Amino acid sequence: MKVAVVKERRAFERRVAASPDTVKRMLGMGLEVVAESGAGEGACLTDAAFAAAGASILPDAATALVDADIVLKVQRPLIGDEDASDELSHLKRGAVLIGLLQPLRHSAAVEAYARAGIIAFAIELLPRITRAQAMDALSSQANLAGYKAALEAADEFGRAFPMMMTAAGTIKAARVLVMGAGVAGLQAIATARRLGAIVSATDVRAAAKEQVESLGAAFVTIDEATLRSAETAEGYAREMDEDFQRRQRAKITEVLRRTDVVICTALIPGRKAPVLLTETMVAALAEGSVIVDLAVDAGGNVEGSRAGEVVTTPNGVKIIGHVNMPSRIAVDASQLYARNLLNFLTLLVDKGGTLKIDTTDEIVRATLLTENGAVVNPALSSVMTEAQATTG
Ligand code: NAD
Repeated sequence: MKVAVVKERRAFERRVAASPDTVKRMLGMGLEVVAESGAGEGACLTDAAFAAAGASILPDAATALVDADIVLKVQRPLIGDEDASDELSHLKRGAVLIGLLQPLRHSAAVEAYARAGIIAFAIELLPRITRAQAMDALSSQANLAGYKAALEAADEFGRAFPMMMTAAGTIKAARVLVMGAGVAGLQAIATARRLGAIVSATDVRAAAKEQVESLGAAFVTIDEATLRSAETAEGYAREMDEDFQRRQRAKITEVLRRTDVVICTALIPGRKAPVLLTETMVAALAEGSVIVDLAVDAGGNVEGSRAGEVVTTPNGVKIIGHVNMPSRIAVDASQLYARNLLNFLTLLVDKGGTLKIDTTDEIVRATLLTENGAVVNPALSSVMTEAQATTG
């Protein structure tokens, strides 16, 4: 069976879905690997490194994809007239596609996979169970995004993060507030602490308090009773009601009076990100303050943030809206993502190197989007109805 790895063509994407290390391991699993020339360029992985690991290098995406049985991607493939290159059209019927396909936000693309007869897997739908941890690309990428968010904030901030006592005077430590203490937020806390900042953090899940405090940061509690019911069985946050949001904003407004840097990481799976900092709250920050909106791709946690831009507000606050933060640390992000996909692949390929899709496995079932021309994922039931209607 042939596995294909191609260059990612979407804007702001430098990562690649395989590494020389995972190529070697795939060969060890009895698979053949082809890579488009330049596939790893954005992540400092050369064609020579892929070739040395045993991959065949092909001149373009079409040649690499055309007879591939399994296609490894970071971003969902380009479809139809989205761009000059229609990646999906190169995939053969029955090919397996694995990537961060964002099926809840891009249901039309899921229908297109079904119509093209693709067996598509969305890696972000992995259940958060112990067995799936080594495949958990959301966590591996969010961890690096949180680290990078703290560095980007430090870079834009006109002051230092640590307290410094010098002969010329003392510099005060920066005060950082992290909003959303999941995987990205916890790494942002740890990184800001390592840089010497005084860090506090908030979250709607009660479980976050202990994790925040274990990193040496102060937890800002909005309402303990509400926090206890804010976590879903899957470990994610629920969307909070208007009353909670009002109280959260009042409490955070107080904290902002003694905050220099805010790193926002709050997400709700399949939904628009919650607005945590309103325009009024941003306007209350001192000149020179910095905000990172890590949720900018999902609608944004901060009013006034703009995807792909660093905005300076009239009161001199910088709002960093970098799109796709993991891609800004593409070398490590690619290595970890490639490992996540390799571990996932071991579920789909048997010892003889042949494809075996076992839908009794809960990880396979949760991530499988389309099979035999239909949308089969229960999380996409409304999409399923539409796709079946159009395919007859
Ligand atoms: P996420 O990316 O969906 O959200 C980021 C954070 O934003 C979460 O902590 C969430 O509670 C928070 N948030 C949402 N709405 C908010 C609001 N209005 N105000 C403040 N904060 C808000 O979540 P994530 O980082 O992917 O993970 C969430 C949890 O799952 C974490 O506790 C993590 O440790 C856990 N997890 C478990 C496993 C596993 O067991 N295998 C794997 C990964 C993560």
